[in-house]
Amino acid sequence: MALSILNEEENAIRDAIFELVQGTIAKRSQEFDQKAIFPRENMELLGRQGYLGMIVDPKWGGAGASYLAQTLVVEAIAAADPATAVIYEVHNSLHIEGIWRFGTEEQKSRYLPGLCQGESIGAFAITEAESGSNAASMQTRAVRLADGYHLTGRKMFITSGGEADRYIVFATLDPALKEKGITAFIVPKTAKGLRFGPPEDKLGIRASRTSEMILDDVVVPVEDRLGEEGQGYYIALYLLDGGRIGIAAQSVGIMTTALERSLAYARQRKQFGQAIGQFEGIQWRLADMATDLHAARLMTYEAARRREEGPAQRPLFAMAKLFASEKAVQHAADAIQIFGGYGYMREYGVERLLRDAKVTEIYEGTSEIMRLVIASRLLKEYDLGNI
Ligand SMILES: Cc1cc2nc3c(=O)[nH]c(=O)nc-3n(C[C@H](O)[C@H](O)[C@H](O)COP(=O)(O)OP(=O)(O)OC[C@H]3O[C@@H](n4cnc5c(N)ncnc54)[C@H](O)[C@@H]3O)c2cc1C
Repeated sequence: MALSILNEEENAIRDAIFELVQGTIAKRSQEFDQKAIFPRENMELLGRQGYLGMIVDPKWGGAGASYLAQTLVVEAIAAADPATAVIYEVHNSLHIEGIWRFGTEEQKSRYLPGLCQGESIGAFAITEAESGSNAASMQTRAVRLADGYHLTGRKMFITSGGEADRYIVFATLDPALKEKGITAFIVPKTAKGLRFGPPEDKLGIRASRTSEMILDDVVVPVEDRLGEEGQGYYIALYLLDGGRIGIAAQSVGIMTTALERSLAYARQRKQFGQAIGQFEGIQWRLADMATDLHAARLMTYEAARRREEGPAQRPLFAMAKLFASEKAVQHAADAIQIFGGYGYMREYGVERLLRDAKVTEIYEGTSEIMRLVIASRLLKEYDLGNI
C-alpha cells in the first residue's frame, strides 16, 4: 500500500523492491542463515536489477536516485534477509559512496561501474582489536615510500572480509597525530601481503561473512589513496552517517517482519477457545509494535531525506539508528513471545529475527556511542528546530 509520506516514484520503488526480494531473496534466506552461505547471488541479482549504487550518477553506472530510494531498498531487503541487507548496505553506503563522494574522476571511472553492476563487491575496514568505538586510536600504519604507501596492521570484524573484491582501508600516517593522521586507501583483495582470517562464527546475520583482515606491507599506489592525507577520519565519519541510516532501515525491515509474522500468528493460533489476538495482553503488544514501527520508519525516512545536509545533521542520523535498532531487538523478542514455544524453534524462523536484530545495536556505532553523539551535539550548538 502506498505510504503518504513518500512521493509516487518512491512508492513505486518500494513496491518493486518488496516484490523482487519476496520472490527471490526471501526464499533462500533461512537456508543461507543455517548453512552460513555468503549470498553473492543476491548481490548479483540486485546489481542486474539496478539496485546497487543507486545514488551514483548514471554516467558511472548508478541510477541517480535519492538517498531515500536507496534506504527503501535496504529496508525491503532486511525484511527478507538481514544478512544480505548489511552486505548491501556496506557495499553502497560505506564503499561505493566513499568513492562517489571522495574519489578522483579516475577512481570513479575505474571502480564505480563494476560496483554498480554487481560485478565486484566493496567493503570498509576501520575497526581493530584495540580500536572499536574509539576509531581514532587505530594502529594500522601507512608509510609513504617511493612506490606508494606501505600498509601494515590488522583490522577486525570486516563485513564481507575475504569475499569482497575491494576494501576502503583506514590507516594512520602517525598515531601521534590521532584523527589528523588517518588516511583512506582503496585496496583490492588480490593485493600482495593482504590476507583474511576465517569467517567469524556469529550469533546472527550468519550468511554475511565477518573476518579479520591482515595487512603485511601491502603496497597501495598513490592513485589509490582516497581523499587527501589526513582526511580519512572525516571520510569515515561522513560515510558512517549514511551507514547509520542504512542500519536504521535494516532495523525497520526486521521490525516489519516481526509485526507481520506476529499478526498472522495472533489471528490463527487458538487458546482458551479463541484466537490469541483476542486477548488484550497480545493486542497491547501488537499495538505498541505497530506504533514503534511507524515512528522508526518516519525517523529513518526523515534522516535519509536530510542525508545531503551531511555532518550538520549527525544527531538525526544517530537518533534514527538508536531508536530503530533498540526497537528491532525488542520487537524480535516480542514476536518470539507471541509465538510462544514455537517462536523458540528454528523451524518457525522467528528466533532468527532476534539473532539478526541484536547486531544493529552494535555495528556502525553502538547505542552508547549514538547517545554520546546526540548528547554532545545537544549540549553544544544543535538547533532544536531540527527535532
Ligand atoms: C557483525 C559485525 C560486523 C562488523 N562489520 C564491520 C565492518 O565491516 N567494518 C568495520 O570496520 N567494523 C565492523 N564491525 C565492527 C563494529 O563497528 C564494532 O564492533 C563497533 O564499533 C564496536 O566496537 P568494539 O566491538 O570494539 O566495542 P568497544 O568499543 O570495545 O565497546 C565495548 C562496549 O563499551 C561501550 N563503550 C565504548 N566507549 C564508550 C563510551 N565512550 N561511553 C559509553 N560506552 C562506551 C560500547 O558501547 C560497548 O557496549 C562489525 C562488527 C560486527 C559485530
